[in-house]
Amino acid sequence: MAVKAHALDKIVSLCKRRGFIFQSSEIYGGFGAVYDYGPLGIALKNNISQLWWRYMTQLHENIVGLDSGILMHPKIWEASGHVAEFHDPLVDCKQCKARYKADELTDKDPKSVDWSTMQCPKCGTTGKMTDPRQFNLMFKTQIGPVENEGSIAYLRPETAQGIYVNYLLVQGSQRLKVPFGIAQIGKAFRNEIVARNFIFRTREFEQLEMQYFVKPGTDDDEMKVWKKERFNFYTDGLGINKDKIRFHQHGDGELAHYAKEAWDVEYEFPFGWSEIEGIHNRKDFDIKRHQEFSGKNMQYSDQVTNEKYFPYIIETSAGLNRMLLTVLADAYWEDTENNRTVLKLHPRLAPIKAVICPLVKKDGLPELARKVVDNLKNHFKVLYDQQGSIGKRYYRQDEAGTPFGITVDHQSLEDNTVTLRHRDSQKQDRVLITGLIDKIDEAILNYS
Ligand code: ATP
Repeated sequence: MAVKAHALDKIVSLCKRRGFIFQSSEIYGGFGAVYDYGPLGIALKNNISQLWWRYMTQLHENIVGLDSGILMHPKIWEASGHVAEFHDPLVDCKQCKARYKADELTDKDPKSVDWSTMQCPKCGTTGKMTDPRQFNLMFKTQIGPVENEGSIAYLRPETAQGIYVNYLLVQGSQRLKVPFGIAQIGKAFRNEIVARNFIFRTREFEQLEMQYFVKPGTDDDEMKVWKKERFNFYTDGLGINKDKIRFHQHGDGELAHYAKEAWDVEYEFPFGWSEIEGIHNRKDFDIKRHQEFSGKNMQYSDQVTNEKYFPYIIETSAGLNRMLLTVLADAYWEDTENNRTVLKLHPRLAPIKAVICPLVKKDGLPELARKVVDNLKNHFKVLYDQQGSIGKRYYRQDEAGTPFGITVDHQSLEDNTVTLRHRDSQKQDRVLITGLIDKIDEAILNYS
């Protein structure tokens, strides 16, 4: 049974202890809502993003990749609506100084709420809430040595716009026909005011975005297809528990200015159900606006029928941090029977696939264990460990999510077999050293 009480604190401390995630600039007292990824964190993050990339660009022949710049022409953010619309309404409690995003406290349009009757969830005082103030979430920077109106640039708050402004170049160069998709993984930046829940909401984060260009009229059906695809990615791809994933549809009050229909994929985190991914029907809003603001023709031209039109766009947009937190929260398991903490990561995602341990540090066992490492390291990320008792070595790796433990013992010197231990069940098989790669591959494939 996964333990949920205070589970987030426990995950945070495991992440630090095992080298997954550290608070940024810790020796300076930390830097709000920014995190650094340690050796296991970056390995896990890479495994997740590579899986997403494979799902998108390898399993779909009509989806291709792109890597656009973080800095872009500032007019792009006028066209997209971010300069005018990308605001969070904030309210403060005058009593205890707590700050909230208005939508944390109400489902209604913040303008329609009488804030003087609102109670502060932190200190419980009523009548001390300020009216909402609008706060733009884009980070501004400056290009060149002189700071003036013309030198302003923004750190992109989403990767999507880089796809829209390039879509005809991508389409033409790859000879793509609607429907087709463009996928991108890259950093985005938001000056989040209220940042909490570990890596759930950070000021810089990677987005995994795929924009799917479709013929208007087919958009509603494509939306259904993508909802299913994305659900399967979480359950079959990342191995997340089906009961902890659900959809939430945006009602009229929640819909973004560009959206015709929007769904959040939500996960039941220790702090409650929260969004990990948005699936949006953005219509032709963005590319029409880029035509208006750039003066360039942004229509798609169908070479067969000679039709020209603005495609509709179905967007799937996820944050890599949030996916990572989902994977960690779902995998965290306190095995009280055996007094150990385990990250039950899907072996496909595990940062280290196997730890290789000589039973003792003598009798030629370390040398043979090193040979096993050399055999395996072309196929899997493996680790050699001879420190401490075998039980301790395994428990360390259980916390790191390492699915397989291999022990070289005295019998290995005689018959070239080793023990292969499975993390979740702790069962052990005796396996020929030459058969290890196949055995591990098979166990990864059949993991459930
Ligand atoms: P939220 O309502 O949580 O602020 P959003 O609706 O603004 O999110 P989108 O603009 O739709 O989010 O962004 C798409 C995805 O990008 C989100 O589902 C989330 O996974 C990720 N994301 C957005 N903001 C952040 C953030 N500050 N930190 C981490 N991930 C984020």
